[in-house]
Amino acid sequence: MEENLKKVECDPACGFMIKSHDEKEIIETVRQHAKRYHKKAVSEKEVKEMMKAA
Ligand SMILES: [Zn+2]
Repeated sequence: MEENLKKVECDPACGFMIKSHDEKEIIETVRQHAKRYHKKAVSEKEVKEMMKAA
């Protein structure tokens, strides 16, 4: 649903956080972030597990 605001927070030491209604956008952004800043490949499933209601 559109009203379902979700968020994903990275490591507290990193401080990265994204909030969006668009799950796809969150997944894409977090995957790019993990790759660029942590040199880590994160799967769609892993991002979904990190997702919380915002
Ligand atoms: Zn991070």
